[in-house]
Formats: sequence, structure tokens, C-alpha cells
Amino acid sequence: MENRVTKHVIVIGAGIIGASIAWHLTRVGARVTVVSESGAGGVATPNSFAWINASWGNPEVYFRLRIRAMAEWQRLANELPGLPLAWCGGLCFDLPPDRLEAYAAEHSSWGYGIERVDRERAAQIEPNLVVPPDFAVHVAEEGVAEPVATAKALLADAEQRGAQVIVGAVDRLILSDGKVTGVIVSGETIGADEVVVAAGAGAPAIVATAGVKLPLDTPPGLIVHSRPYRKLLNGLVLAERLHMRQSAEGRIIAGSDFAGGDPGENPEATARDLFALTKAALRGAEGLEFDFHTVGYRPTPADGFPIVSRAAGVGGLYIAVMHSGITLAPAIGLFAAREILEGERNALLAPYGLERFAQ
Ligand SMILES: Cc1cc2nc3c(=O)[nH]c(=O)nc-3n(C[C@H](O)[C@H](O)[C@H](O)COP(=O)(O)OP(=O)(O)OC[C@H]3O[C@@H](n4cnc5c(N)ncnc54)[C@H](O)[C@@H]3O)c2cc1C
Repeated sequence: MENRVTKHVIVIGAGIIGASIAWHLTRVGARVTVVSESGAGGVATPNSFAWINASWGNPEVYFRLRIRAMAEWQRLANELPGLPLAWCGGLCFDLPPDRLEAYAAEHSSWGYGIERVDRERAAQIEPNLVVPPDFAVHVAEEGVAEPVATAKALLADAEQRGAQVIVGAVDRLILSDGKVTGVIVSGETIGADEVVVAAGAGAPAIVATAGVKLPLDTPPGLIVHSRPYRKLLNGLVLAERLHMRQSAEGRIIAGSDFAGGDPGENPEATARDLFALTKAALRGAEGLEFDFHTVGYRPTPADGFPIVSRAAGVGGLYIAVMHSGITLAPAIGLFAAREILEGERNALLAPYGLERFAQ
């Protein structure tokens, strides 16, 4: 308890991951300073599709972390009422029927809330689909966190609990006798007991200043946003080459994939084409207007899985960088805070140490 009260932790990054870690640290009494170049809301976070899921395409061990994160969103929503979360469900048919059935069978056996649906049921779930699928999988427990509003709400509450949020660029970490003892922000030194790097695509350059190598790719992902419109979608729709949802303020948000499509050589033209597809897929969308597109750079560790751990041989440093940060944020915040303050590493994090890249 003594440690919890007195430890000063700097969190670099104010996207969904930095915000969640900062919030979980302040909740148990740590003294927290958040430093972010972008201000509250982050860099990848505002450009995210923001689907909370444990859907197909991942090994069971990663499914277990994701499903735990979904449960942690429910816990967080109880602890911080008013978070902009919607448990709107996801209707998925972006695989051929045989692979969709294999996904349904596998994930059902893992305990995922899969409902196999036919055309009639799909049309009940999403009445405005022009072509409802003959066979789809519906997962009622999937949802969405409006990403920037969620990160801002976490940071605002952390500030209320005493955290300090500073806008500024971290030039480098301060390394002394193998331990990180603080950061240099715009030429000024801030000392700390621990430094958390939750800086997304900016993380490799920061940790390199302490001699740590972080293998990260940053593939681009294009998403289109309509102007706010009357309700057309009840939940997430994951169709082949078209993933879409409707935001809390009524915007239809779509990508050729939830992770965003390839922007191509002319992102504006790619966005217009995608928007035309989106409009054509929805009944009643005649008046739907294109507003803007985003190209986000997804902080994706080289093997696709999160990096959430200390760095071997460097004290006082904790790294949390990942794709699927919207899904994972509440679990990562909780687990990271425990590990930093109490030295207790959650078993679900076992595969996600930076040391796996050392071989
Ligand atoms: C197109 C797209 C679609 C996606 N879809 C989904 C999805 O459906 N579901 C899902 O779970 N995930 C999705 N993701 C991934 C998810 O959005 C990211 O994993 C998440 O937003 C990462 O959050 P973060 O806080 O780690 O990083 P960021 O939001 O990038 O924040 C990084 C922070 O670090 C700060 N920073 C960086 N360098 C410095 C520095 N030197 N000094 C000070 N501050 C610094 C930045 O200013 C910023 O505040 C998607 C991402 C994209 C781009």
C-alpha cells in the first residue's frame, strides 16, 4: 500500500491505452503524470473503427485476453458511469459459409456468445441491409467504445483524482545505472519512479533512447465517416469488404475492413468509392452524405500481438503498445497498474513480453 500511495509514474501517451493505464494507476492512489504530444485522445485512437470484440482470426490464448478485456469494459463502465460504450452486437458474414461455420463452432466451444442466423433473422437484426446474408454469425456481446470520448473521460476522471496531464513531446528517457528515472519533455526534466511508454507509433523512438528495440509496424487504415444521419444500423455489420457501424452521434463509419482499408495512391478517391459502396448497402441511405475520411497508422508489433511488459535489463520502464487497443484497453490498464505497483503480472499477459523478440 505504501508503494501505491507514493510511487510517481509518468505515462507517455494519452490515447486509449495511456488513458486507461493512467486511470487505473490513479484509482489505486499512484501519483501520475501523463505526457502527450497530441493532447487527450491520442493519434491512432481517433482514427479507429473501435469495435470491441474477440472475433475470428486469433489463437485461443489471444481470444482469452480479448474476452477478458470485454468483461473488463463492463467493470470499467460500472466504475466510471457515463462512458460512451454501446453493447450493440456484431453481425458477421465476411467469410465464406464453410469458414464462418468453422469460426462459429470453434468460438462457441471457447464460450463466445455466437448465434448462427439465417436471412430472415439477419434482416430482423439489421432491417436496413439491402442484401441480408443467407448465413451470418451474430454476437450480442460485441460493442463499441467511442474512442476519443472514452479516452478523454478516463483522463478527466484521472485528473479529478489528482493526475496531471501535460501536453508536450518527450525528447528522451533519462537512463541512470540501468534504470529509467524520468523523461526530458521539451528540454525540461521530469523525474519519476516508473515511466510507462504507451505512445503507439511514437514508442520505438522513445524506448530507443534507453537502448531498447521495439519491433513495430504502422500499416495505414482508411475509414470513411458520413454526416450524422437518422438511425440506419442497430449494431456492427461485418460484411465482405465492408465493415460498418453507426456512431453515437449518428455517423455511419465504414472501412473495407475494421482495421481500415488500404488508402491506395489516391486516398480521397478510395474514400469516395468506399462511401458509395456503403451507401449502396443500406436501405434508406439516399440522403446519406460523405463528411470526411481518416487514415490512421495502426501501432502493430511485428508479430501482430500486443507488447505489454517491462524491458529486460532496464528498470523503471514499462511498455504497452498494441493494435486492438480499443478492445484491450481496460484489461491492459488494470493489469499494467498491478504489475507496475505490485509486481504482480497477470497470467493472461504471459505471451506478450517484449523478450519474445529477443530470439
Ligand atoms: C483504421 C484503424 C482501425 C482500427 N480498428 C480497431 C478496432 O475496430 N478495434 C480495436 O480494438 N482496435 C482498432 N484499432 C487499433 C486501435 O485504434 C489502437 O490499437 C489504439 O488506438 C492504440 O492506442 P494507443 O493509446 O496505444 O495509441 P495512440 O492513440 O496512437 O496514442 C499514442 C499517444 O502517444 C503520444 N506520443 C507519441 N510519441 C510521443 C512523444 N515522443 N512524446 C509525447 N507523446 C507522444 C501521442 O501524442 C498519443 O497521445 C484500429 C486502428 C486504426 C488506425
